[in-house]
Amino acid sequence: MKDQARVVIIGGGIFGVNIAYHLAKMGWTDLVLLEKGEIASGESSHAAGLVTQFATSQTLMQFRKYSIELYSELGLFDHVGSLRLASSKEQLRELQRSVSRAKAIGMAVEIISPEEALRIMPQLSPKDLYGAIYIPRDGHLDPYTTTTSMARMVREMGCEVHTCTRVTGIKLSPKGEVTEW
Ligand SMILES: Cc1cc2nc3c(=O)[nH]c(=O)nc-3n(C[C@H](O)[C@H](O)[C@H](O)COP(=O)(O)OP(=O)(O)OC[C@H]3O[C@@H](n4cnc5c(N)ncnc54)[C@H](O)[C@@H]3O)c2cc1C
Repeated sequence: MKDQARVVIIGGGIFGVNIAYHLAKMGWTDLVLLEKGEIASGESSHAAGLVTQFATSQTLMQFRKYSIELYSELGLFDHVGSLRLASSKEQLRELQRSVSRAKAIGMAVEIISPEEALRIMPQLSPKDLYGAIYIPRDGHLDPYTTTTSMARMVREMGCEVHTCTRVTGIKLSPKGEVTEW
């Protein structure tokens, strides 16, 4: 293992491998990722893998939209679509407001009637169903496969990925730069 690098990432979960992937794509391949166990052995192996673009802030929606399109390009995503239900008139109004924000950033999303929601998902109860929003490009991925695939791509781009390597401390210079790990 090299003893100096421009970037050291601690943790081989979905966050660590994503940061490494994006830095490597920018050309920052002098990068080491350290994982104390195996890749995706933390919380990322427990996730259900449901991914939505929906959020209350436009910034978060943009992040999520980008992530879904990236996973899709990498062949890791299944666009099964999602429904978000309104069980009161107030909730429906709130969803309508969010849909305007989502459409403003180019998200494919629509408000649908209770009948349309029941057609998409017949298991729903029609009781107190006022409508729903339907996001066709939301969906599902396998968290383990996604995390390990991205770690493999990071290696293929020339970065070092070390498993079974626990970081036990970080030493800083007086200026706050990382000098040892
Ligand atoms: C039951 C469950 C269901 C979920 N379902 C969803 C879902 O459907 N959709 C969704 O978007 N999110 C879901 N989540 C949330 C999602 O799993 C987490 O947001 C995500 O996995 C966090 O990733 P992470 O990389 O931050 O953490 P982790 O995957 O935990 O990665 C951190 C890594 O750091 C390593 N590490 C820690 N300390 C050190 C050290 N000192 N040295 C070296 N390595 C170290 C750990 O071993 C670990 O592998 C779910 C979570 C759970 C628990």
